[in-house]
Amino acid sequence: MKFNFLRDYKLLTTLVLLLTGFLFSFNRTSSENWVESKYKTEYVIVLVIDGPRISETFGDSTFQYIPNLARILAPQGVLVKGFKNNGVTHTNPGHVAIATGVYQKIKNNGKELPKNPSMFQYFLKEKKLDSTNAWVIASKGKLSVLANTKDRYWRNQNLPSQYCGVNGLGLDYAGDISTWLNAKTILQKHHPKLTLINLLEVDVNGHQNRWKEYLQGIKNTDKTALALWDFIQKDSIYANKTTLFITNDHGRHFDGHKDGFISHGDNCIGCRSIYLVALGPDFKSNTVIQTEYELIDISKTIAELLGFDFPISKGQVMQELFRK
Ligand SMILES: [Zn+2]
Ligand SMILES: [Zn+2]
Repeated sequence: MKFNFLRDYKLLTTLVLLLTGFLFSFNRTSSENWVESKYKTEYVIVLVIDGPRISETFGDSTFQYIPNLARILAPQGVLVKGFKNNGVTHTNPGHVAIATGVYQKIKNNGKELPKNPSMFQYFLKEKKLDSTNAWVIASKGKLSVLANTKDRYWRNQNLPSQYCGVNGLGLDYAGDISTWLNAKTILQKHHPKLTLINLLEVDVNGHQNRWKEYLQGIKNTDKTALALWDFIQKDSIYANKTTLFITNDHGRHFDGHKDGFISHGDNCIGCRSIYLVALGPDFKSNTVIQTEYELIDISKTIAELLGFDFPISKGQVMQELFRK
């Protein structure tokens, strides 16, 4: 065949265009990250302080038991004052609402897996990440159920790593000091992108009718919340790229209702009322909102920040947290 400049030039151009299109579409399907995220957040940590009453936290205007949360952390982010658990106000149901975005009447003893897959699973699957990228770290061993689901399509698929209870074995209750030390070790070693941490001291002392220790638990977990935020900001990988949610799984009965601060689990206003402090590079600062956002909204907001689909969630993205 004779060389024909015009014909060959056209052919070559067509070939180049086809190849570019192919590579582009290939790249598009093989990596979801090709679109730059509109958010600065690359890492999310949810700290759940188990069971303080709102009357000893943000409902007490002196903030005597939560000086760090109220005066150092909340001003750097958004405080959602009307935050609620609108499901069952026990530990496992509260945490399952956070992790799955659905309220479920699940057993509170750790003997039942959540009906729905979690944000951890959807995140790891969509981003094609291994299990070290998402962690459930809990003082309460029974919270190891957060790392799996009964759902037949999702069971044992894309599971997060976990360290729950004594020695991380999913049994009994570990002290918050050891949970915090283990959490720090895990964060430093793996820099997971999505982590949930549970601290139990407040709740356990409440159930034991130990008022002083219950208050001390609120103070201790308040210190740990600050220590966690300081750790994030001093860590070269986490700094300025991490969003922290600090919340509760449930409140407790107010004085005069049943046995007061000792118990929780019904639908009284004391058990429903919790707080959310949300800090990170994409959220407003110095902002207090009264909107009645709720536990199931946390995972939907995380899905928005980290850019993955979480269609099973019954929650909403908490738009008022975001900078404009
Ligand atoms: Zn409890
Ligand atoms: Zn109650």
